[in-house]
Amino acid sequence: MPEIMQSPVMIVGPCAVESREQVISATISLLERNVFIERGGLYKPRTSPGFDGLGLQAAPWVAEATRMGITFGTEVMLPEHVDGLLEAVNQNGGDPSKLFFWLGSRNQNHMIQSEVGRRINQEAKPSVRLMIKNQPWGDEAHWLGIVDHVVDAGLSSERIDLCHRGFSPYGRNNPDGFRNPPDFEMAMRIKEKTRMPMIVDLSHIAGSVDGVFEVARRAIPYGFDGYMVEFHPNPSDAQTDKRQQLDLNQLDKLISIVSI
Ligand code: PEP
Ligand code: MN
Repeated sequence: MPEIMQSPVMIVGPCAVESREQVISATISLLERNVFIERGGLYKPRTSPGFDGLGLQAAPWVAEATRMGITFGTEVMLPEHVDGLLEAVNQNGGDPSKLFFWLGSRNQNHMIQSEVGRRINQEAKPSVRLMIKNQPWGDEAHWLGIVDHVVDAGLSSERIDLCHRGFSPYGRNNPDGFRNPPDFEMAMRIKEKTRMPMIVDLSHIAGSVDGVFEVARRAIPYGFDGYMVEFHPNPSDAQTDKRQQLDLNQLDKLISIVSI
């Protein structure tokens, strides 16, 4: 993440990768706006059965995006997703050193977390980073524990970024009706303790387009190292998280808010 000297860093892209047209159109729009890091889920954890990602079917499009010069990140739910994508992007003429991976909020098996860290360390170029999102419940020790598991597995702390995506509203004070109300103070304490960059995921905190702008305004004073936000060329066609994905005009508005 910090290898791209942009401040704050923007990580932008669709919730889920759905088609070549969608990914390439998003990549063009991002590069035109000097956004150099794209996100897009190949493996989607779902609360109820449904579209759960295209997996390696999407690898040729990810490869093409890296050839266009963008860094591309996706969630991995199993250790084999790491080596599978590194290899498939390479085989499709892409640049595997321009990939990054993240552990999502629902992936709370420490053996999988450790093995993902171990494989990134062993099989990916040093530029390939791992982002660790917080778990759904608001427990500081647990989030720090995920970091410890990954570092203990051998991945250098210099290759790890953290991401605050809010905590489940269950039992929490949520007067604004956010999808996952944030605890920015906790995120900042964890940033200080770990000395790792802390990204804020505006979309999964907010749960709606209007909420994304509101969460951005509230997050700015904390000085996060970057912003993750979902953007879809045609949000009404999105297969997942339709309500919270920005369209191009809304993305431009967000960029102007967070760049101030
Ligand atoms: C995501 O970023 O695609 C995602 C599923 O987020 P989270 O794990 O934070 O819910
Ligand atoms: Mn999403």
